Amino acid sequence: MRKPARLFASFALAALLSSSLHAARMTSLGQAREWSTLDKYQRTVTRDEFVRRLDTLYAPGGTWKDTIVLTDEAAFIRTGNGESAYRLAFAASAESAAPTPRRWRTPQEILPAATADQPLAGWFIALDPGHLGGEYGPLEGRSWRLGEGPVIQEGDLVLRVAEVLKTKLETLGARVALVRDRPGPVTTDTPESLRPQAEAWYARQHPDGPPPTPADIQKLANLLFYRVSEIRARADLVNDTIQPDLVLCLHLNAEGFPDPANPTLLEPNHLHALVNGAYSAEELTYDDVRLEMLRKLLNGSAAVELEVSAAVTASLASATGMPPFTYTGPTAVAVPGQPYVWGRNLLANRLYACPVIFLEPYVANSQAVYPRLAAEAESSEPLPDGLVEEYAQAVTDGLLALPCGLFEE
Ligand SMILES: [Zn+2]
Repeated sequence: MRKPARLFASFALAALLSSSLHAARMTSLGQAREWSTLDKYQRTVTRDEFVRRLDTLYAPGGTWKDTIVLTDEAAFIRTGNGESAYRLAFAASAESAAPTPRRWRTPQEILPAATADQPLAGWFIALDPGHLGGEYGPLEGRSWRLGEGPVIQEGDLVLRVAEVLKTKLETLGARVALVRDRPGPVTTDTPESLRPQAEAWYARQHPDGPPPTPADIQKLANLLFYRVSEIRARADLVNDTIQPDLVLCLHLNAEGFPDPANPTLLEPNHLHALVNGAYSAEELTYDDVRLEMLRKLLNGSAAVELEVSAAVTASLASATGMPPFTYTGPTAVAVPGQPYVWGRNLLANRLYACPVIFLEPYVANSQAVYPRLAAEAESSEPLPDGLVEEYAQAVTDGLLALPCGLFEE
């Protein structure tokens, strides 16, 4: 933090910054962070590169312009209550840029040293099976069945994918950790312990409204548990304890049933991967979100996220023939030349400080996929020709295609 608001008097941003003199705006269970944690990125990127990353991936459509002001030499980023700003100095040129400090290594740094029979040696990969599964499937809305068929739970199926994938990657020399290695939560919070935060959240949302019903509070406490506290606990585990080079978040997609009371299988089946990006102007008004975006932008995660996503989706597409899923609207940004890869701001891909990709292959409730998932759910072991094996093998083959040199920092 270099200068107080007076510095902004000469910039158009002055009015904007002073418009927010209340306490820093924070997301639910968000942590106040020190802007000085960005000091290590001073003079690591040029102005052109900083703007390119914002405009093409992190904040397309100028959504950053309400909270970041540029001069030739530096970016001034709104902090806290808006009375001051964080000054990030640009490198004068790419040649004179300071090296980007980071704990993780890129495929380009790791893989050339690997051997022919251990082609992934030296790579430390964390696998993050999405959701909680087990007895928590119904609570998190990831549990369903068709007629008398088996119960399908995304959290359980992706845990099985993670276990099979771990064995495959270790055989090829990688070191692998599971962010969740059993059904159930990583967080030690419970819906009960989060009731005070749920009550406070309700009060913020309804400042003049009617008092909440017990069901209102229960619903919010459940959401804070499985969607917020759980992801924050996993982020702490990834950033502070596991500290991998890459995180693969394993999911299966699904489409909403047109008539949930009478579910029938759907036609579409598709595939995509997500990298961190597409922050809206509204999201960037939160102090914690703004800082977390800049950490991702400055530490160079995107080049690895894009490269791994491109390779893994190419492999999944060739193994399954699935077409790309296409987003409409501003919550996602397309990556040029990569129809399967999209940028989106999710809590996990924002909070995990190292490169992280979300895999969203297969529409679970489609005509093509459901019979395969039902067969997996009914079996105590992954099936030799089954979907779990196909998913894990395609991801493995994608990683073996790296480094592909498509996205340089
Ligand atoms: Zn999921």
